[in-house]
Amino acid sequence: MYTVGIDLGATFVKMGLVDDKGKVCFRRKIETPSSLNKAFLIDAIINNIRDIIKVSGKKVSGVGIGVPGPVDSKKGIVHYFPNIKGWKEVPLKSILKKKLSLDLELDNDVNAITLGEFVFGAGKYCDNLVCITLGTGVGGGIIIDGKLYRGGSMAAGEIGHMPINEIGPKCNCGGIACLERYIGNRYILERAKNAFGGNITLETLTSLAKSGNKKAVAIWTDVAEKLAVALVGIVNLLNPDKIIIGGGVSKAGSLILNPLKRQIKARAMKDQAKHVKIVLAKLSADAGIIGASLLTHS
Ligand SMILES: [Zn+2]
Repeated sequence: MYTVGIDLGATFVKMGLVDDKGKVCFRRKIETPSSLNKAFLIDAIINNIRDIIKVSGKKVSGVGIGVPGPVDSKKGIVHYFPNIKGWKEVPLKSILKKKLSLDLELDNDVNAITLGEFVFGAGKYCDNLVCITLGTGVGGGIIIDGKLYRGGSMAAGEIGHMPINEIGPKCNCGGIACLERYIGNRYILERAKNAFGGNITLETLTSLAKSGNKKAVAIWTDVAEKLAVALVGIVNLLNPDKIIIGGGVSKAGSLILNPLKRQIKARAMKDQAKHVKIVLAKLSADAGIIGASLLTHS
């Protein structure tokens, strides 16, 4: 059985035909510059789905779409799309269903990634897990008793907007001292710029830390410790089997993982801390496509 997974990103739409073992066997990519309009993007998605099915010659059972930002997965409405002008409250599911006679589901991209890790990645055989994506934004997805937990209005999992202090910097979401305001890409890079007196990339910051640079190690340790404050609460509250760390920032690997594990062991309640495993995500760049392809079965 094959499904099409679509990772609707702010700079690219990545699409792939995914088999029942989670292998991406056919790909398409559409650029999404900010000049792109809504109707053109929707047409491009439809044409590429048709093309993937035609050229691959496979029987496709459905299409799953992961969208950055808030969606109503029940009604199939995308509330907004960061990069595309005029994209507000778009009933994407019904628009696409009219043109394609296929089973079609959509959800936010972190929920899709979480499903991907749960079925084919680092969360295999775990019924209770939390998946965190570290990047420009800090996202989260939750699996409880083997099912994606979406919450009362389909908006659960916003780990990046958990406050980690009573007072602190204001966040775009309207909150104060949200985790993302401390460990989102932009803020890590700001701190690196202050420490090194010039712009450096996350990759450079990681390689400096790996070669023992104390200032770089201190930045990564601080990122891990801030993340730990939120995750200790999650470990105590949800008692997950695993916490999976993914996203671009997770390439820092053990620089984040080791202090994170230390903090959770020291601060979380004993039973929960002993039970939980903190691991890196496995699906890397294809996580969005593979996860989205699973939405039609979830
Ligand atoms: Zn926030």
